[in-house]
Amino acid sequence: DKSHHEQQLLQHRLARIGQIILVMANKGGVGKSTLTANLAAGLAREGYRVGVADADIHGPNQSRFFNLVGQRVHLTPGGLETRQCHHDRLAQPIRVGSLAFLMDRDDTPIVWRDAYKHDFMHHLIGSFDWGELDFLLIDMPPGTGNELITLADLLEHQDVAALITTTPQEVALMDSLKAVRFCQERGLPLIGVVENMAGVTCPHCGGEFHLFPRAHLAQALAQLEVQSIAQIPLSPALATASDSGQPLLLDAPDSPEAQAFQPAVHAC
Ligand code: ADP
Repeated sequence: DKSHHEQQLLQHRLARIGQIILVMANKGGVGKSTLTANLAAGLAREGYRVGVADADIHGPNQSRFFNLVGQRVHLTPGGLETRQCHHDRLAQPIRVGSLAFLMDRDDTPIVWRDAYKHDFMHHLIGSFDWGELDFLLIDMPPGTGNELITLADLLEHQDVAALITTTPQEVALMDSLKAVRFCQERGLPLIGVVENMAGVTCPHCGGEFHLFPRAHLAQALAQLEVQSIAQIPLSPALATASDSGQPLLLDAPDSPEAQAFQPAVHAC
């Protein structure tokens, strides 16, 4: 029957995927997608076969980060096509799978009940033709809602780990700690926390300052026995890179901002 067939297809896909990484954040706008794209770029630069699954249903922006806006995919005998980001610095392209490729228009809002979202999580992993991958990075929707639970269940027997993005503000931090607890309670291995907008680099003098105090973050993470594995500055270079559709780790890998992602790349 249909669900048995879908289950088989899913297992077939998963068998060809190595490490799966859920990139999480408990809020929108903290840089989760930016981190996902740069991690993908960093891993691909090291020669790994990398896929990026955009699970952020209400803000599927990975197509933007990889300059694939407006692209559409077809259903082939091998499954739904992924779109590929090619670059001189990459031995092989990064494969991107996103709901954005399936929409009639780019500005259509998604208004789905949970059952639909649940189905889409299955399709994202099972229907896209991911091929052989060393890493599949999943750009999660913010929060610890339905999609996360669906994926955590779906991937229960896989090699899966989580990364959590946060900004240093107290409000974002409190929420991120909930995501940490979710992982700990589920027994989902946590690679660590990436602090985004951790400091500001002055575009004029190159000097650095902190908008938000870091002390609370360090203390809270220590209490939960979680490591901060990378600190990414707030930088115009990062904002421009995302807008222009080229992760900084591909475009300007030697820039200090791109280098700031490297510890996270190596932690994967
Ligand atoms: P999320 O996925 O958490 O919603 P995004 O990665 O989409 O967040 O980032 C939101 C916006 O902030 C994007 O326009 C992105 O370019 C910008 N941004 C993220 N991190 C930084 C940073 N460290 N410096 C400058 N701009 C950033």
